[in-house]
Amino acid sequence: MQRRTLLRYFSLVPMAGSAALIPFATAKAAPPPAEKRNLFKELGVRTFINAAGTYTAMTGSLMHDYVVNAIQQGAAEFCMLDELQDKVGAKIAALVHSEAAVVTSGAFAGMTLGLAGILTGMDQHKVEQLPHLEGTGMKSEVIIQKAHDIVYNHALKNTGCKLIYVETAAEAEQAINERTALLHFLNIEADKGKILHEEWVALGRKHNIPTSIDIAADVPPVSNLWKFNDMGFSFVVISGGKAIRGPQSAGLLMGKKEIIAAARLHMPPRGFNIGRGFKVNKEEVLGMYVALEKYIQQDHDKEWKAWETATAQIDTAAKAVNGVTTSISVPALGNVTPTLQISWDATKVKVTGKELQEKLRGGHPSIEIGGVGDNSITVTVWMLKPGQEKIVATRIREELSKAGGW
Ligand SMILES: *Cc1c(COP(=O)(O)O)cnc(C)c1O
Repeated sequence: MQRRTLLRYFSLVPMAGSAALIPFATAKAAPPPAEKRNLFKELGVRTFINAAGTYTAMTGSLMHDYVVNAIQQGAAEFCMLDELQDKVGAKIAALVHSEAAVVTSGAFAGMTLGLAGILTGMDQHKVEQLPHLEGTGMKSEVIIQKAHDIVYNHALKNTGCKLIYVETAAEAEQAINERTALLHFLNIEADKGKILHEEWVALGRKHNIPTSIDIAADVPPVSNLWKFNDMGFSFVVISGGKAIRGPQSAGLLMGKKEIIAAARLHMPPRGFNIGRGFKVNKEEVLGMYVALEKYIQQDHDKEWKAWETATAQIDTAAKAVNGVTTSISVPALGNVTPTLQISWDATKVKVTGKELQEKLRGGHPSIEIGGVGDNSITVTVWMLKPGQEKIVATRIREELSKAGGW
């Protein structure tokens, strides 16, 4: 502070005693920081320890600091949205072995946009006709295996296409006709269908029809990020806000150059399309890029071991209770992480899965768990912050003991 400023400052200080006695450091100190708001508290919104997993209803996953930093950096500048998507897209494509890529507002949006791009190509008139395909000359059907019939396939219907469900390769070949736009595959149910990945891609090649795959919840393993691009799927979609821990409302559409270019005609900043509402802001584009890059670089073995250690801790605490048995398994497909099932003998531990869920939810701190059965609950540790496994272990043991197990 310059001498004159200092004098002016002192002239504003109430003359209690002598201003000259105020230590210089005090005069120079920054004003006390504005009280830090706790918005969740202010709003009365319950926060909790997430021992459940990456559920949209529970707001997915927590972004790493480097993702938040990228978002903050993004928030401080303007740029052209298309230029940012071009440049980030090229980097992402190189990371995942695809010809091209674009950050979308999630895997669901990626499915709609990828298919929309296939239907219209670069024809702006066609872009503006979606989702009304009748009489336009555009294709209008997507073939999917019955075992792959899940809610998220609605993303494909948003284009105006009909979904045709088949079971065998022979049925798929029979269903293929001049209206077939796409053969879509769902990785999380791959083992339930009769047709596997390679055969699906081969079917598409044989009939010259694009193939797509939904791998929304399918990292880890990290190699899935490029496996299906390498395999030859025309486009691949994944969520950004699950295990990758990017922005919860972001995801990736990766695939053939011409599909991604056409998909972007259906995205902001452009309107006159079905995807204007699937906006991804620059902050999320940057956040998604950094999240992906760091996710690929991170030590996956180390992370897995940490998950095993935390799972073992909760496991040990739970099965110490009389009447309780546990098992740890890893799903073969989707949400591939150690999953602890805690079950109990209802004659010894007198609480239902639902009641235990409520007790954990109502405790301090509040804890959310995953699946609930009559006499069982499911727990995963991958969304815990370091150290929270201790709290989860203690609370579960406490409630099971109180219910009569000892
Ligand atoms: C989560 C999920 C989606 C939706 O992904 P978003 O990124 O939330 O749009 C689609 N398909 C499957 C299999 C999922 O698990």
